[in-house]
Parts: sequence; structure tokens; C-alpha cells
Amino acid sequence: MPLNIDHIRGLFPVLHQEVNGKPLIYFDNAATTQKPLAVIEALSDYYKKDNSNIHRGAHTLADRATRYYEATRGLIKTFINSKEEAEIIFTKGTTEGINLVAATFGRKFINEGDEIIISTLEHHSNIVPWQMLCEEKGAILKIIPINEAGELDMEAFDGLLSPRTKLVSVVHVSNALGTINPVEEIISKAHKVGAKVLLDGAQSTSHLEIDVQALDCDFLVFSAHKLYGPTGLGVLYGKREILDAMPPYQGGGEMIKEVTFEKTTFNELPFKFEAGTPNIGDVIAFGRALEFINDLGKKEIKAHEDDLLSYATEQLQAIKGFVPVGTAKDKVSVISFNINGMHPFDVGMMLDANGIAVRTGHHCTQPLMQRFGIEGTVRASFSVYNTKSEIDTLVASVSKIAKIKNK
Ligand code: PMP
Repeated sequence: MPLNIDHIRGLFPVLHQEVNGKPLIYFDNAATTQKPLAVIEALSDYYKKDNSNIHRGAHTLADRATRYYEATRGLIKTFINSKEEAEIIFTKGTTEGINLVAATFGRKFINEGDEIIISTLEHHSNIVPWQMLCEEKGAILKIIPINEAGELDMEAFDGLLSPRTKLVSVVHVSNALGTINPVEEIISKAHKVGAKVLLDGAQSTSHLEIDVQALDCDFLVFSAHKLYGPTGLGVLYGKREILDAMPPYQGGGEMIKEVTFEKTTFNELPFKFEAGTPNIGDVIAFGRALEFINDLGKKEIKAHEDDLLSYATEQLQAIKGFVPVGTAKDKVSVISFNINGMHPFDVGMMLDANGIAVRTGHHCTQPLMQRFGIEGTVRASFSVYNTKSEIDTLVASVSKIAKIKNK
């Protein structure tokens, strides 16, 4: 059944405001999605009624907060179909998830002369931690190239794989272009040479159905704030046998079994990787975001977003001076573009004057921009609460802006 978008929009207070005298049109969803009221209220309810530290408290509030916190872990297990809740680790976000894997798995299992493969499409958070590790260990970073459409060159990937490949760390869906990468093929080929695979799911988890067991990825990282949840919270999924073999990330409370001045033993999963008091309120509120998605259905959300994508693409392409960046066959509802003769930042400012929020710049993917020989793009990214009428306004605005330099 098609979604009732009017009803869905009613659940998001932030959407109902004017910006620069115009109704807000929020097309910056790849940067962060807006939050439904249920998430906002869950956060304030937690601080009003349940606030307490979790796991060790003997009192009622601590017990309640612990149950709510752990219930979100259960929802995530189902959301990505992991085998066990113990494989779900709370982090600060995608960035911390990748850094955690680099600092623990990387430091322990990647040595001099070993190889790590990433791709041209990566966000800086899936480049820099590996550069730092390679520098420290004398390991080698290899990059999968892309074609003009912004799709991975899979033949080149075959050529990069070797018995020295220890890890392939790739973005599932590109934040800058929207390209959906063929991760099933990447994972099965990487496993054939004995390499582990980390998927950066920051963008894919909000658009695609994710089944970590079917994918057989070794790690998946993502951020709650791109999934209608709070900022500063994320998830690292890892296969139990790999997480068990990894040393802890940070030392402190919660992650220990027993501490003496001579020796410390570590807690079991997932607590081994959750040192210190976690982000309890946001984890609980994230549970409401996952329920929001589950209630609508991922398939239904994607169908709506795909509809918006093809509607917008068709009309924008017809505008003189419109230059799409990234035209992959398989992509999510992200349109990156430039206007001939104009700087992306100026286009973004003019759209903002019309109440339209888009992203401009390099999108934390500078090497990708260098590959296309551009400084940046304008990026419009659509979510479940966006409408065709909002796209009509975008198209009319882009068309007017493009005329300035493309008569
Ligand atoms: N990877 C991708 C593909 C992203 O889109 C983002 C967020 N822009 C990140 C990683 C980093 O996520 P966070 O800032 O939430 O850690």
C-alpha cells in the first residue's frame, strides 16, 4: 500500500516552519534526517521519568532504563538480522565504528606489507582511519577506481585482491552520489582471498533492507541520526568470532569483568566495547525511530523515495546548464549536480533563499570530487516525508538559477 505522506509529515514538527519567508523544503536528508515526535518525546520522557545509570543499579529506575536501553539493541538485531544481540555495539556513530575496527581489529591483525582495499567513493571517515593504520603498520592502502557514472570498476577490484588483502572496507551506498555498490559480489570475492569486509552503512541502512547474515559482511557500521534517530549515536555490528578475537577499544567502567592492579579481565560482548556510561537516553529514543521505520516498512519507504528520485531526475535533466554528477544505474534518492558556470555554494545559497535546504561542497569525499575534477556539488537527497510538490519547487528554482548563466 502506498504511504500516507501527509500523515507522515504530521509526525515531524520541524517540517512545519518557514525559512526565509518560504515553507521549508528539507532536501538534506543524506546529511541527517529529521526526527519524528515519538523520538523527541522519548528523549524528554527518559529524562523526566527514567533517568539513571544502567546495568548495575539495584533500584527500579536503573532496572527500567536498562530494560529500555537493551530493548533498542534487540530492535537493531532484528533491523539488520544479526544472529545475536551481543554482536550489536553502540558507538558515537559511523565514524567511531570505523575507528574502533581500525584501532582493534586493524592493530591486531594487519601487519607490514598487508593490504587494505577501499574505494574512490569513500567518505573521509572510511579513508583517514585506514591511512593512519597503514602509516603505523607499514600496510598498503589500495583504491577501487570508478567509472564516469560513479560506479565501482569491479574488474579493477578483481585485480586489487591478493592473498595479502586483509580487509576490504567499502561504502554500501555513496553519500555524495547515491550509488548502490554491489556489496554481495565484493564480500564473496574478498572472502575467497581470506579478507574481512567492513560495510559503511551510513547511507544504506535508511534506504535498503539490510540482512547481515545474508550479506555475510564481517562488520557493518551506521549512524542513528540518518535513520530518524538522535545524533552522536551509532552501531557497530561484527560477527561474534571476530569481535571475540579483537582487543577492547577503550578501557574503563562497564567493559571489565574484574580489575586488580596486577591484571584486568574484560567483560563479555557487547559490553567489552562499551566502556563508560553510554548514551542511554539517545539509545532509548533511537528505538522509537526504528519502530517508525518498521511501521512504515522499508520496501514502502524505498518505493516512495524511488518515485521521487525518478520524478526529480527527469525534470532536472531537462534544465539547460544542469550537470548531474553520478548517474549510476543503481542508486538511492540522492541527486548530485552542478550548474554550468556557477559555484555549488552560490546555488545552495539561492536555493536556501527559496526555503530549500540542500548540501553543497565536497560532502566529505574530496578524493571523489578530485576524480571528477570538481570542487564540489549541490546535493538534494530525498526522504520518506518529501513530496512531488516540493520537487516541483526545487525544479522551478534550479531552472531559474540556471538561467542566470545558461541563457
Ligand atoms: N560514511 C558515510 C557514507 C556518511 O554519509 C557519513 C555521514 N555523512 C559518515 C560515514 C559519517 O557518519 P557520522 O558523521 O555520523 O559518524
